Amino acid sequence: NQQIVLDNRPRGAAVLGNFRLVVTDTPALAEGQVLVRHHYLSLDPYMRGRMNEGPSYAAAQALGEVMIGGTVGEVVESRNPQYAVGDKVLGMGGWQEYSVIDGKAPGALRKLGAGPFPLSYYLGAVGMPGVTAWYGLVKIIAPKAGDSVVVSAATGAVGSAFAALARARGCRVVGIAGGAEKCRYAVQELGFDACIDHQRYGNEGKALAQALGQACPQGIDGCFENVGGWILDAVMLRMNAFGRIALCGLIAGYDGAPQPLSNPALLLVKRMRIEGFIVSEHLEVWPEALKELGALAGSGRLRPRETIAQGLAAAPEAFLGLLQGRNFGKQLVQLI
Ligand code: NDP
Repeated sequence: NQQIVLDNRPRGAAVLGNFRLVVTDTPALAEGQVLVRHHYLSLDPYMRGRMNEGPSYAAAQALGEVMIGGTVGEVVESRNPQYAVGDKVLGMGGWQEYSVIDGKAPGALRKLGAGPFPLSYYLGAVGMPGVTAWYGLVKIIAPKAGDSVVVSAATGAVGSAFAALARARGCRVVGIAGGAEKCRYAVQELGFDACIDHQRYGNEGKALAQALGQACPQGIDGCFENVGGWILDAVMLRMNAFGRIALCGLIAGYDGAPQPLSNPALLLVKRMRIEGFIVSEHLEVWPEALKELGALAGSGRLRPRETIAQGLAAAPEAFLGLLQGRNFGKQLVQLI
């Protein structure tokens, strides 16, 4: 069983040398356990936070342990009557080819039906990232039809689900993404009304705000923020009074770059609301959100792009790419 463990913690930006590939035997199963062979491993920005020590909303990943991560795979051995060999399952198997999971632990494994979409979607649009988009849109931004909403990292796993959900509610949906190709795809394939290429504005918030003004002539009512820093600054300049910002992620700062907010007075002047959230703390919304996301994916209204690295050894490089915007859509690793 090939595994990737956290070897040492990053000093500044994460690097390949923080990870180590090891090979171990899979242990014999105890009563209640199942052995899962992973087909896909999900790579997600939150993993970068777990590599650090220090206070956060979740505990740090221990050194020498397999990197945490969501997986879809197939049961290949079972000592649990609830799971049969061949069942497709979603779990937190981590960065490894096989995992031994206690099938009795609540929520440890979910059986997946053969849906009208690929199994990999359960790690993206019809999984945690999709629910994240749903929560921020529905519970924090709570838009009315006709509202203008903006999302950064627009073509990513969360951003692309956000677009489909916001369109379904009759919003004007504007994206911010890195590069002309991502922006073209956002408009032509994901149904964004407009998409702004942040790379054209070289960290210049006022120029980006001007472009946002053109894309949202009625101002911005809701912002789903994935990036932070100068991008959030620019959006705040264009927010309408009583606008809502769902603060989902600050990926521009995950590798240590400072992310100052240059004009917090705008929160007061525009009577805005900004609310951070962690999707795993809102398990009550998951069934409703997954139902809607599954229906959108099943009917083709949510057809997210995926970037798929091949083989476990490719995971660290693909993960660093995610933190630098080299992924185009949901980043996965295909294992077997
Ligand atoms: P994505 O698929 O969107 O991939 C990350 C994207 O972030 C990149 O493709 C890139 O897009 C953008 N990016 C990366 N580095 C930078 C940078 N330095 N400056 C600007 N943009 C950058 O990832 P996800 O959809 O999985 O996650 C999106 C966000 O949602 C993350 O911030 C993540 O932490 C957050 N999240 C939060 C959750 C919560 O519970 N609060 C749960 C899940 C995700 P581009 O090239 O277009 O700029």
